[in-house]
Parts: sequence; C-alpha cells; structure tokens
Amino acid sequence: MEFQGQTAVVTGGSRGIGRAVCLELARGGANIVLCYAGNEEAAQETKGACEALGASALAVRCDVSDAGQVGALMEAALSAFGRIDILVNNAGITRDGLLMSMKEADFDWVIAANLKGTFLCMKAVSRQMVKQRFGRIVNLSSVVGLRGNAGQVNYAASKAGVIGMTKSAAKELAGRGITVNAVAPGFIETDMTAAMPEKAREALLPAIPLGKLGTAEDVARAVAFLAGNGYITGQVLCVDGGMAM
Ligand code: NAP
Repeated sequence: MEFQGQTAVVTGGSRGIGRAVCLELARGGANIVLCYAGNEEAAQETKGACEALGASALAVRCDVSDAGQVGALMEAALSAFGRIDILVNNAGITRDGLLMSMKEADFDWVIAANLKGTFLCMKAVSRQMVKQRFGRIVNLSSVVGLRGNAGQVNYAASKAGVIGMTKSAAKELAGRGITVNAVAPGFIETDMTAAMPEKAREALLPAIPLGKLGTAEDVARAVAFLAGNGYITGQVLCVDGGMAM
C-alpha cells in the first residue's frame, strides 16, 4: 500500500487512462478525487470501482480550462481529505484537422483543455504542496508532442507545451520536495483512439516496434511509478511500444 494516507487528484478520471490511473492509485491505498467534464455515469462507475478496492473516492464535475472550477475542485479535495499529495493532469481532448482547414475555435479548445488546464491545476495545488513540502505531479503528454502528427497541430502544440511546463515547474518546485514529471503515451486503446478509422489503425501498427496498441493500464503503471518516486523530476517517460525512440 505505497500510497496509504495520501490523496490523489486525477483529472479526466472518469474514462480511459484516467480511470486506470484512479484504480492503480486506489489499489496502492490513496484517497481518490477524480474530475470529469460531463459524463456523470462514467465518473460514478469509476468512483464505485475505487471504493470496491477499499479507497475513499470523490467525483467532482470540473472543466479544467476554467480557473474557478479548478479552484472548487481542489477545495473539495482539501475539505474531504485535508491534503493533496498527488496530482495527475490527465484530462485531454482532440479536435483534429489539417492545418489549412483547422478552425481557430478547434485550436483554442484543445489548447484550453490540454495546456491551460494543466497549468491551472498545477497552479492551484502548488501552494498546498509547498505548505506540505511534499507533492508528486504527473502530466499526460503524448508522443505527438515529441514527434508531431499530421492533422494534429493543435494537439501536438498542447502536448509539447505540457513538456515545457513540466520541466519549468520541476525546476521551480524541486527545492520544496515536489517532483513534476510527464508521461508520453503512444497509441493506447481508449475512446480517444476508438474513433480512428480501421485503416488508419492498421497503417499505424508498423510504426510501433512492439507491434500493438498499449492499454490504459500500461500507462497507469507508469504514472504510479512516477507518483511513487521522490528522486525523479523533470522527466518524460514514453509508454509507446518503442514508437518515439
Ligand atoms: P478519453 O478516453 O477521451 O477520456 C478523456 C477524459 O478527460 C474523460 O474523463 C473526460 O471526461 C475528461 N475531460 C475531457 N475534457 C475535459 C475538461 N475540459 N475538463 C475535465 N475533464 C475533461 O482520453 P484518454 O485516451 O484516456 O486520454 C487521457 C490523456 O492521455 C489525455 O490527456 C490524452 O491526450 C493523453 N493521451 C492519450 C493517448 C491515447 O492513445 N489514448 C495517447 C497519448 C496521450 P468525461 O468522461 O466527462 O467526458
């Protein structure tokens, strides 16, 4: 029970990778505060699954791109559990399109959820973590943030930005006992990738040395590893079947 007595806030914890992270940390003994954008049913299901593992859990509706809602999320976590030890910035969206035809609104939307959301959540917990002189922040980036991908200038920019923010925050907060790292998944079986046409999925496989898509649990184990280590900071851990090497 590596995380016994600790509290973890997981954004986008209702589905996919976030859900698997909630379960992995709950299995380790953490109290779980998960946020979600609108899928109440999925959020309640994940909350129940955490409780079935013996954890205390809270599900809070919160749009991470809204500073007021992020403040309320962290206040809810603190009033329920008194501290925030782990923050996993997992909430993320895609609005794909080629550069020449991408709508400005789709660029702004993705940057707001993926990049500004990560900034707002890190900012909101940093004061509490400094007070505790303890914190573990893990941000979800993507191999697309390292290598780029046609049709995803908005998403790639947001995920590259997450890496820059991770390293900067790691330098700022290291002296206060707080580590900040990023996990960069490759192609993982979730709702986000289920929307891809079968042909595009097949075309992708040769680019993955391990020859298969990853699972949400593969990513969750990497997140838990970084959340449980106090001597790794400012790093980007790829969980991608070897794609980005
Ligand atoms: P997913 O299955 O589409 O789930 C997205 C989660 O984020 C849901 O819980 C959703 O809540 C929540 N969310 C979306 N916008 C939000 C907002 N503005 N505020 C709060 N919550 C919000 O996604 P996933 O595939 O698990 O991806 C999780 C993270 O990993 C993302 O950051 C993604 O970019 C990254 N990633 C994924 C892959 C992959 O192959 N799947 C690869 C690389 C990186 P609702 O349930 O309420 O909608």
